[in-house]
Amino acid sequence: ATDQAGRTLIRNTGQAYLKAGLPVRYRVEDLLRRMTLEEKVGQMAQAERAAVTDNPSQITSLRLGSLLSGGGSVPTPNTPQAWADMVDRFQSYALQTRLQIPLLYGVDAVHGHANLLGATVFPHNIGLGSTRDPQLVERIAHVVAKETRATGPQWNFAPCVCVARDTRWGRTYESFSEHPGLVTRFASSIEGFQGRHTSDLKDADRVLASTKHYAGDGDTEFGSAAGDYTIDQGVTVTNRRDFARIDLAPYVPAVRRYDTGTVMPSFSSVDWTEDGIGNPIKMHANRELITGVLKGRLGFDGFVISDWEGIHQLPGDWPTQVRTGVNAGIDMFMEPNSSPAFITTLLEEVRAGRVSQARVDDAVRRILTKKFQLGLFERPYTNRTHLADVGSAEHRALAREAVARSQVLLKNSGGLLPLKKNAKVYVAGRNADDIGNQAGGWTLSWQGAPGRDRLPGNTILEGIQQVAPGAQITYSRDGSAPTAGSDVAVVAVGETPYAEGFGDVGGPAWAWDPEDAGVPREPKSLDLQPGDRAVVDKVCSAVAKCVVLVVSGRPQVIPPAQLGKIDALVASWLPGSQGEGVADVLFGRRPFTGKLSHTWPRSADQEPINVGDRNYNPLYPFGWGLRTHTHR
Ligand code: BGC
Repeated sequence: ATDQAGRTLIRNTGQAYLKAGLPVRYRVEDLLRRMTLEEKVGQMAQAERAAVTDNPSQITSLRLGSLLSGGGSVPTPNTPQAWADMVDRFQSYALQTRLQIPLLYGVDAVHGHANLLGATVFPHNIGLGSTRDPQLVERIAHVVAKETRATGPQWNFAPCVCVARDTRWGRTYESFSEHPGLVTRFASSIEGFQGRHTSDLKDADRVLASTKHYAGDGDTEFGSAAGDYTIDQGVTVTNRRDFARIDLAPYVPAVRRYDTGTVMPSFSSVDWTEDGIGNPIKMHANRELITGVLKGRLGFDGFVISDWEGIHQLPGDWPTQVRTGVNAGIDMFMEPNSSPAFITTLLEEVRAGRVSQARVDDAVRRILTKKFQLGLFERPYTNRTHLADVGSAEHRALAREAVARSQVLLKNSGGLLPLKKNAKVYVAGRNADDIGNQAGGWTLSWQGAPGRDRLPGNTILEGIQQVAPGAQITYSRDGSAPTAGSDVAVVAVGETPYAEGFGDVGGPAWAWDPEDAGVPREPKSLDLQPGDRAVVDKVCSAVAKCVVLVVSGRPQVIPPAQLGKIDALVASWLPGSQGEGVADVLFGRRPFTGKLSHTWPRSADQEPINVGDRNYNPLYPFGWGLRTHTHR
């Protein structure tokens, strides 16, 4: 049977699992009883959209449980409608399987459904942490869920509850805070994604959350990774007490209070010997922490989704990797391009008795439970109720508020800020008028998309023009235009986008964006780039008063000589699509209220530096943030 659009419908064959009125637990058992081993193992596989686009009938033949759009996997044309059509088209192939089990579709909407052109792009977590407002972040998560579900995906690989302890870590911008207590409070975003009750998951504005990366992802030892350009996949050298206190802490409310639907293990490893000489165990192989602690002690009853080819990093040959991951307690496997091989191998492992039927049943039971709770058997195709709300004025207003509240005023000599609305302002720096840079990674592509007109919204410069129409603005990206007559300069410097992999010294390995046709990105470090230092020096020497905005995913080191020339210094983080939120605080439309959620070091070699350390002597401490008044 098909609907008017020609899409396959679920035939009502009268079987118990198709009866919406029956309890989910009962439906799951009924369905599980009917499934062959091949059907079960298929549910445990997740493929990348690109791997099935040309031949979607594989969804049917492999009986795939899930698809994802990994970062950088943007369909063309990239509109809300096209997204929903794409997801529904894939769904119709899943519904052609014998038992008609719907697909789950996952994306990284980590700061908005930024895979989609036109979505509202919020500040990255590091900025949201500075708002110190879990309710605000929960509201944001709800909007993100609405924009995501309306366009097809029912599952978001967020929130990241990493506790970043060393800002040289390449994913510090995904961390709400270095303080586990603060990160723990932001687990509230799960409620924004999923709703308060399990029954909310069916709603057109909710998605399944994936709390990640379990656990210790932000607490790895600098330089401990295989490639020294990254500590993204390093080793957490710790003891069980500190691990529980720092790294596991956010998972307690995530599981027990907010009932996160899924958890994603980290690429990193754990070494319990404290001195780092032990035998690091990859999280994807960590039965003690996944099955023992997460599913056992914490009572997690959702399912565990591996990270991107996470099991490929385990020791041993491919069958060993598959077996180790399944037996550690991973339920679904993100195997973007190797789902067929995963399925074949897992079948062999089960038939040989090296993976038990019971373990497979447990995994599939968990996955099916979420599919029933999401209402997919009743409504497999996208509920487009909120399609027109994607990128709406209301959503952008919330993002603007979040941007304003995320700004941290580090220095404000002589009360320079807020600026007068009729000031003569000289705006400079490469991050003043670049919406791609201010959005950061996981935006239109995996590593982000630098550029002036990459997405709808406002750059910081456009925000200033809107908020202070009476100001006389001169803009010069590199600070070369004459500064004649300007009272004050606003120089926006900082980082260019990246998603994963950058440590202190960025290597070229992942440092490009496929969309930029292989243009290499600059190495990342905590230091301001030479070009940024030059523009700050030039402009701050030429204009009487100087405001510097650091638009970046982590603190940047400002040498004392340079700091002396700066009158006002602002941590703007990665604000996203609504640059006018920055202008709101600059011009006193709103007060500065943000507080550092990460310690701002004097130099990179102070890292790791965290509040509570002995001899804590940073440039700006955790919790720092000056307030301003507002102009009325
Ligand atoms: C990242 C995850 C992400 C996944 C899917 C991985 O490389 O570590 O955070 O959810 O890709 O895009």
